[in-house]
Amino acid sequence: MPRLVIISNRLPISIQKKPGGSIEYQRSAGGLATGLGSFYKNYESLWIGWPGIVREGLKLEETKLVKDSLKEEKCYPVFMGRRDIDWYYNGFCNRTIWPLFHYFPTYVKYDNEYWETYKKVNKIFFDTVADILQPDDLVWIHDYQLMLLPNLIREMYPEIVIGFFLHIPFPSYELFRLLPWRNEILMGFLGSNLIGFHTYDYARHFQSSVRQLLGLDSLLGQINVNGRIVKVDAFPMGIDYHFYSQASKNKEIINESDKLKEKFGNRKIVISVDRLDYTKGIIKRLKAIDLFLEKNPEYEKKFTLVLVVVPSRIGTKNYFLLKKQIDEMVGYINGKYGSIDWIPIWYLYRQLPLMNLTALYNIADVALVTPLRDGMNLVAKEYLATKAERKGVLILSEMAGAARELGEAIIVNPNDVEAIVEAIKKAFLLSAEEQVEMNRTMNHRLSRYTIEKWAKEFLDNLIKARDTQLEYS
Ligand code: UDP
Repeated sequence: MPRLVIISNRLPISIQKKPGGSIEYQRSAGGLATGLGSFYKNYESLWIGWPGIVREGLKLEETKLVKDSLKEEKCYPVFMGRRDIDWYYNGFCNRTIWPLFHYFPTYVKYDNEYWETYKKVNKIFFDTVADILQPDDLVWIHDYQLMLLPNLIREMYPEIVIGFFLHIPFPSYELFRLLPWRNEILMGFLGSNLIGFHTYDYARHFQSSVRQLLGLDSLLGQINVNGRIVKVDAFPMGIDYHFYSQASKNKEIINESDKLKEKFGNRKIVISVDRLDYTKGIIKRLKAIDLFLEKNPEYEKKFTLVLVVVPSRIGTKNYFLLKKQIDEMVGYINGKYGSIDWIPIWYLYRQLPLMNLTALYNIADVALVTPLRDGMNLVAKEYLATKAERKGVLILSEMAGAARELGEAIIVNPNDVEAIVEAIKKAFLLSAEEQVEMNRTMNHRLSRYTIEKWAKEFLDNLIKARDTQLEYS
């Protein structure tokens, strides 16, 4: 059994220095950590990534201590300085790649210093990886922060098996070609044996860019790069289905749900849950709520929108302005329609713990998930999973990767405010039987392609890609 080496921007364990100087370790409960958890234990495996603290934040002896403690958890930290993190992560990743790949070209900053730092940080990752790697390891690299890493590793180990998964959309060629560093980025990807995307559309866009920019054709999802076969395929990420589908039977969640139900009485609950991000379509969604109430005054006092916005990338101007705009719109709508005994929008600007969030899914009659662009959107899947054999309506943007698998939901164009208004009305009017039927079909699909299945399928295909290469050479 080969060793599995997982590489992602963040380690599944974060380090924080407390005001008194003590070092705190916190395990992240994100999707990736959950999905890879079983492999992580079963395979001989290790994880390489940034532990969330800049190099200047630790004294030399503390760095050694941190390294030793993380090693016990099979984690290997990549340390970076404050400036590197700023220009690579806040800069190139979040001001260049993120907006471009999410179809916001006017938000993109093309900055050569950002790009140089991105290259430098990918090289810093490579240096840490090179110390640890063995030629017969299976390597799995994650996401847009590390697009150059596959090829850096390939140059050192021509035979090693490398998988890469992109967790955000890959844009159409017309968008991707705007990047001054487009060819180097594609070459970075192509160091892999297998490249995975959430949907076939993203895989198709990638192959189109490779063809038009590098002149390399692909046949049945295989690209021949100087005699090396690179496979490209779609692996839609799933969720921890068992947990969410059992939510309505979980004591802690039932308790939490009862408290919420008491608060909202018999009003319908509509939820909206996202990180603070301009890709999530929060403003258009709020406009739809305003228009819905304007057009359908009979629904006043009949529902509450629980709007959860999770703080994210707060130091960045676009995000700061978006937060301000959301605050203003919530105030405007609550002022316009609210009364002594009803506030239309219950607004929470914070991250909810898993149990509270799941309780909210559990009691919600409608989930409004209308991103302008989203690689997948796990909130949509998590919400639905709490509705196995139960009522609950998902209104989902056709621009979310998840829409490819959840076609029975009410699908909307997130830019079409009128369409969102109609969708809300439809959701309120659907019969219980219709809702249960829709959810049954989608739950069947979600239960078959869980996060564990996603990880297993990717790794099985990576091993197949290795075998194809062996046959070919
Ligand atoms: N989430 C959470 N607490 C919150 C809101 C969201 O733990 O208050 C989680 C949610 O369960 C989901 C993830 O954050 O797993 C968001 O993933 P998604 O794909 O929807 O969007 P992303 O933030 O990755 O763009």
